[in-house]
Amino acid sequence: MIIKTVDLETVCGVTSRLPENTLPEFAFAGKSNVGKSSLINALMNRKAYARTSSQPGKTQTINFYNINKALYYVDLPGYGYAKVSLEAKAKWGKMIERYLQKSAMLKMVFLLVDIRHEPSANDKMMYDWVVSNGYHPVIIATKLDKLKRSQVPKAVKVIRMGLGMEKEDILIPFSAETKQGREEIWELIEQAAQE
Ligand code: GDP
Repeated sequence: MIIKTVDLETVCGVTSRLPENTLPEFAFAGKSNVGKSSLINALMNRKAYARTSSQPGKTQTINFYNINKALYYVDLPGYGYAKVSLEAKAKWGKMIERYLQKSAMLKMVFLLVDIRHEPSANDKMMYDWVVSNGYHPVIIATKLDKLKRSQVPKAVKVIRMGLGMEKEDILIPFSAETKQGREEIWELIEQAAQE
């Protein structure tokens, strides 16, 4: 897709009303520092549209980016940052759950995990949560360039096992450095946007 316009249209806090969008939405979730801003910037061909987080976990908002007036990237707040209080974590959970349950236009949920690590309890929780809300999350295994090519198949297997993915569920290794995986992600988005 050729990106012509990117507008951060809506920023939702804990108590904000969610927008009633009429365009297809694509949500991105993952723990802080996993590379979500880098992925979004790479998808949008922008250097610094989504803020790369120097203070992980700080943004506790759901951000809706209108792309080409054709679809939305929905940036869900990062999770699993130790310094966030229990109260903030509970609010965060409610906010994401409300979005997953309420959004009529949500077409696909992308869950980001670091390709180098076994999924954490939070990753697993998020995965199960998305599944229990009726979606099959597409897993994006980030920071692919940090592994040797020979290490990739095992790392992919560890993630699939750790999350309890079904055979047919999609996992895309991705690197914001080399942009590997970018086209595959775009293909999924474009296909689902048309359904
Ligand atoms: P976020 O908190 O999930 O939005 O993560 P960021 O996009 O801010 O990335 C966190 C850190 O990981 C930053 O230092 C990025 O430069 C780095 N990073 C993100 N993606 C990649 C990648 O694909 N390869 C490498 N080598 N570093 C990455």
